[in-house]
Amino acid sequence: MQITNVTCPTSKYSIKCPYEMTPQGICVHNTANDASAMSEISYMLGNNNKTSFHAAVDNERVVTGLPFNRNAWHSGDGGNGKGNRTQIAIEICYSKSGGERFEEAENLAACYIAYLLKQSGWGIEKVSKHQDYSNKYCPHRTLDLGWERFLNKIREQLGLQTQPVEEKDYSGGSDEPVRTYVNGSTIENIYADTSLTKKIGYLNPRESCDCFGIFNGRPMVRYKVDGSSNYKIGFAKWTGGVK
Ligand SMILES: [Zn+2]
Repeated sequence: MQITNVTCPTSKYSIKCPYEMTPQGICVHNTANDASAMSEISYMLGNNNKTSFHAAVDNERVVTGLPFNRNAWHSGDGGNGKGNRTQIAIEICYSKSGGERFEEAENLAACYIAYLLKQSGWGIEKVSKHQDYSNKYCPHRTLDLGWERFLNKIREQLGLQTQPVEEKDYSGGSDEPVRTYVNGSTIENIYADTSLTKKIGYLNPRESCDCFGIFNGRPMVRYKVDGSSNYKIGFAKWTGGVK
């Protein structure tokens, strides 16, 4: 595992990490961006925004940018929030577009988190997500793909038994949608299959419809065909619409 440490100039401490901290856990984020770990850290240290994190992980390396004995502004829970004041913040890169390099980044992040847990003598319960502190849907793609699934990657690294991943049972034929899908500002094509090989329709910009969950990373939606009362069920590509 390649770990690159970038030093935050002490002149920036007052903006990026003003408080001393004894870390009490690890908080996981997704960047919602397609930049590399080095770019994320360079950008974070280069600007004067009160947004910061300790490390970013992509498919090739871990890059740290802040000392772990100082706080970071990452979890949206205020100046005295547990997230902002006690957690080591780790960003997983390439979550905007996802795909193979994101999955590799998640795998490397799991390795790195397992390493940090071992180093501190912590258990898996010390791993939290941004959403735990401020209701922001972050780490968005890791959550879409399954939080317990991600924890299992860490458990595997620690030699712990993995936990069953929760899967909804649709065998009863329930037609209750579990979520809503709200399309973004562009037309979203809908496909018959999760490999997106057969296009069967589309959603208009901002159109909302029912969503039954995410399968193979594809949101399964039930939508009305334009200008009719006919419903179709298919798979969208953009996971950001799942609410
Ligand atoms: Zn976050």
